[in-house]
Amino acid sequence: MNKVLIITGGSRGIGAATATLAAAQGYQVCVNYLTNQQAADAVVAAIRSAGGYAVAMQADLAVEAEIVALFQRVDQELGPLTALVNNAGILEKQSSLLQMDQARLQRVFVTNVVGPMLCAREAVKRMSTKLGGKGGVIVNVSSVASRLGSAGEYIDYAASKGALDSFTIGLSKEVAEQGIRVNAVRPGFIYTDIHASGGEPGRVDRIKDAIPMKRGGQPEEVAQAILWLLSEQASYATGTFIDLAGGR
Ligand code: NAD
Repeated sequence: MNKVLIITGGSRGIGAATATLAAAQGYQVCVNYLTNQQAADAVVAAIRSAGGYAVAMQADLAVEAEIVALFQRVDQELGPLTALVNNAGILEKQSSLLQMDQARLQRVFVTNVVGPMLCAREAVKRMSTKLGGKGGVIVNVSSVASRLGSAGEYIDYAASKGALDSFTIGLSKEVAEQGIRVNAVRPGFIYTDIHASGGEPGRVDRIKDAIPMKRGGQPEEVAQAILWLLSEQASYATGTFIDLAGGR
């Protein structure tokens, strides 16, 4: 059976590393991106030149109709979906709760929670053995922030990842008898551009002394765990988490 994977936010960072590793392991990969087509095309070109297969597909996952259209396009161009990695996420500027307004909270929760839930809904419709599918795997990219809380910095982000953790557990039980496994990875500080959008590009190096391993992680180190959870080697793992945080 063809292995068909959608990776959301796949044009850079953890998403790009996961897309690249998945393609090397034989997945046909939909590299979803929001705005940076050039970056998504570069990921796809690198995959193809290494002999893999990938297609870049634009969709804003904060918009339900775009999510639905993305999954339909994958049905048509790549065939039956077998795997989803809910990777896309945002981190807004560091601040205390006192500076957070409704618009910010909605942006963070729509992108980090509602989008992944709607993507998972579309995936389950296609994968569920009760609905004629052949099963599948979903991996959510959460964060260790969900158990640390990110006080005074990003409590909105931490709370959104807490919701994603809870969703991971709930959905894993809801679809366990439908041939679908649902798990999450929880990275710590990984060297990606998300920290630039959070207003502090040097953040990983500034806090690295607080990490028992005294370094940030690389996107590829997260991708390896995601690929394991997607694989048959993880056939009895569902509703569980892998923390990749250097001991934090
Ligand atoms: P990143 O900013 O490089 O990647 C996030 C991707 O999500 C980007 O490509 C962005 O365009 C995409 N995205 C955001 N909103 C979107 C939308 N509405 N529609 C489609 N795509 C959208 O950062 P990253 O570190 O690679 O982040 C990947 C995931 O890892 C995120 O969920 C993030 O919360 C999580 N994470 C990262 C770290 C870290 O330290 N880098 C730690 C813990 C968790």
